[in-house]
Formats: sequence, structure tokens, C-alpha cells
Amino acid sequence: MEDNDNCPFCQIVAGKRDADIVYANETLVAFKDIHPHAPVHVLIVPRKHIRSVNDLTLADGEIVAAMFGKAPEIAQKMGVARSGYRLAVNVERGAGQIIFHLHLHLLGGWR
Ligand code: AMP
Ligand code: ZN
Repeated sequence: MEDNDNCPFCQIVAGKRDADIVYANETLVAFKDIHPHAPVHVLIVPRKHIRSVNDLTLADGEIVAAMFGKAPEIAQKMGVARSGYRLAVNVERGAGQIIFHLHLHLLGGWR
């Protein structure tokens, strides 16, 4: 698996950096955002280092399917599946992407 030593999310995936992991499987790791923008703010992160949505290819289809496909289970685990949640991806700097390792934001828990 490609690994980027300078990438914080690769470090979390590899267990070299602490994170509050809420879910993990062979394809992805989900952990709490350190600067949450909502009562529940989890990042769903593929183990594979992919810079952004711009770098996805059709060969990454299973990864993308897993990111979205596991979101309901993670939302359920975080207690927001029924109340509702937002899934968001920032693509490149102009959209606010600051970590250049693909991730899906799962936000919820508002009153
Ligand atoms: P984005 O703007 O889409 O690149 O979002 C990156 C997110 O990662 C931000 O919401 C950060 O608060 C979060 N973040 C950065 N470093 C860490 C970390 N080490 N552990 C958890 N979340 C992080
Ligand atoms: Zn990475």
C-alpha cells in the first residue's frame, strides 16, 4: 500500500499517530476530527493515499463505494443515523481542503 511519510492521515492509518478511531476495516479508517465543526464530526479515510477527488480513477471505485457505503453504519454508531447527517468532501485548496489525503466528512448531532 502506498504510504506518504509526511501525510498525517497515512500516519494515523499506519498507527504512527494517535486518533480517536471509531471504525476501521481493510479499506478505510474513520476517526473523530480534532477540530469538530459539529457535535459529531468524523472523517472517513481510505487506507490508500489518494490526494483528492481529482486523483481518483475508476480503479478506485471500491474505495469510494466503501467510503459512502460504510457511512450509514458509522452514523448509526455515532447516534446520528436517524436524526440525520451531512457528508462532505472538499476538493483542493479553493474549497478548503487542507489535508491532501482523500476523506469524507460526516457531520451531525445538531439539536
Ligand atoms: P479538509 O479541510 O477537508 O482537508 O479537512 C481536514 C480535516 O482534518 C479538518 O477538519 C481538520 O480539523 C482535521 N484534522 C487534521 N489533522 C487531524 C488529525 N491529526 N486528527 C484528526 N483530524 C484532523
Ligand atoms: Zn496519506
